[in-house]
Amino acid sequence: MKRHTILKRLTLYTALIIFSVFFINGEAGAKVNVVTSVPDFASIAREIGGDKVDVISLAKGYQDPHFVDAKPIYITKLNRADLLIYNGLDLELGWLPLLVTGARNSRISTLNAEGNVDASVFITNILDLPTGPIDRSMGDVHPRGNPHYMLDPRNGIPVAKGIAEKLSEADPENASYYEANYESFARLLNMKIKEWDEELAPYKGTEMVSYHKNLEYLSEWAGFKEIGFIEPKPGIPPTPSHVAELIKKMKSMDVKLVIVSNYYPQKTPSIIAEQTGAVFLSIPTQVGGQDGIDTYFDLFDAIVGEITGALKDQKGAANHSASGTDG
Ligand SMILES: [Zn+2]
Repeated sequence: MKRHTILKRLTLYTALIIFSVFFINGEAGAKVNVVTSVPDFASIAREIGGDKVDVISLAKGYQDPHFVDAKPIYITKLNRADLLIYNGLDLELGWLPLLVTGARNSRISTLNAEGNVDASVFITNILDLPTGPIDRSMGDVHPRGNPHYMLDPRNGIPVAKGIAEKLSEADPENASYYEANYESFARLLNMKIKEWDEELAPYKGTEMVSYHKNLEYLSEWAGFKEIGFIEPKPGIPPTPSHVAELIKKMKSMDVKLVIVSNYYPQKTPSIIAEQTGAVFLSIPTQVGGQDGIDTYFDLFDAIVGEITGALKDQKGAANHSASGTDG
């Protein structure tokens, strides 16, 4: 073979290699493939990632995030993920680790893997942190602190920042895009939080009962007082004696509000409300928890709207009967 032919071929090969590297990178790097355990993170990842990311959530917003069916199709989705964003603090302990192991994806498979994003590390005010050794013998599903931190909208900001940083690491070319999207997300969320704060302000100090200890962050933020839970312990179904005690306590303290996530059993809470003359509210507590709740903003619009709506009616009714105009 003549020398210039060899050179020609080498040039051709080089061009092919460059082309294919560019092409493959262009394909794989076209969009960052994000899988989230629960939909709140998917909503925020979409806000931050815009058209540079493909995002799916494994669990739906109307499912109890502690107990999700580990479907085989989730393994396929996890196998292709560049980033896995999950809640952590053992929220998904019963279903996610199994799927992640099955997916055999080194980008996400270990805690130290680049694409393995435990969003709880972005949160500084975890409630119910254990003071002693962790003990599951009582069946508590919150042994490492209360994992339901996304129900305080203020926590959406550090989570969004963390997601923006992780997206930038996975896709450095678009880092400034993610940063800018984070800035506008945080600006909008701060503005909405102010509005929601104002709407909730008249009801500060409201005493309430919930089903599971998942509304603690919400009630902390709203200034509500949770005086009891329908579950005797997180993850343990109510017993008749516990329910009877709770009803007694509610009556003696004159507690008139029962709020539960819409994925919990509704019968016992509604009976408790009926027996105590309390308002019973079943609310969506995750993005996708109800039709029309497509974003983290929609979620709190709905939650704040439902709570203030019910309390306004209750106040109105109390004033009405106190004034004696109803006979
Ligand atoms: Zn929980």
